[in-house]
Amino acid sequence: MPADIRIVPCLTDNFGYLVHDPATGATASIDAPEAGPLIAALDKEGWKLTDILVTHHHGDHVGGIAALKAKYQCRVHAPHDANAKIADVDVRLQEGDFVRIGDLTVRVLETPGHTLDHISYVFEDDRALFAADTLFSIGCGRVFEGTYPMMWESLLKLRALPDDFRLYCGHEYTASNVKFALGIEPGNAALQARAKQVETLRAEGKPTIPVTLGEEKQANVFLRADVPSVADAVGLSGSPAADVFGELRERKNNG
Ligand code: ZN
Ligand code: FE
Repeated sequence: MPADIRIVPCLTDNFGYLVHDPATGATASIDAPEAGPLIAALDKEGWKLTDILVTHHHGDHVGGIAALKAKYQCRVHAPHDANAKIADVDVRLQEGDFVRIGDLTVRVLETPGHTLDHISYVFEDDRALFAADTLFSIGCGRVFEGTYPMMWESLLKLRALPDDFRLYCGHEYTASNVKFALGIEPGNAALQARAKQVETLRAEGKPTIPVTLGEEKQANVFLRADVPSVADAVGLSGSPAADVFGELRERKNNG
């Protein structure tokens, strides 16, 4: 049975997500930016939270864990990196681990760079990728703890997933990402199409998520650091893709 996925806007621009297995009633929250909106969404659906899948230790992803765990006695799954100091963890996860949410199977991918502990969650049967602050639509997370080559490798790992997978990311940053990407690739038709779509969605007050990975591979400049025309656009023709990626990330930081 396909999973029921709900987008739950939290804090200023975070996306909370609930993934519900209709067959068993199991329900997972991907991260816990804020307990209040997640509890309200669970009440509205008549769902009980059984699991929290944490992606990384930043406060805007773990802030709601304690309150949710106290209310639902749910299991908390988090990255194996014990140094990351995430509280209330029941299960520690690493690359290649599988988590069961009722009848749903979730695969764990280590995607370090934004933080060293960052992991992403893949629901294989539902073709859904929860990439939190590693991969945004038309963007990627800032590289706070890792290196540019490390983050580039993480993006390549996500890029290797099939085109029909849908991306659910950690923040609604798409409009600002589109603006930046158009500055690098003004002639990219897939990006222009996404720009139009994003403008319409935002005008209607709707989230720009999910989006297919196929679309992102065409339109997201941060997934295209190994495309020669992108290297040319940042004055790094012939340079390693990780360097081109680093230059893109620095320009976005300073933009
Ligand atoms: Zn973060
Ligand atoms: Fe975040």
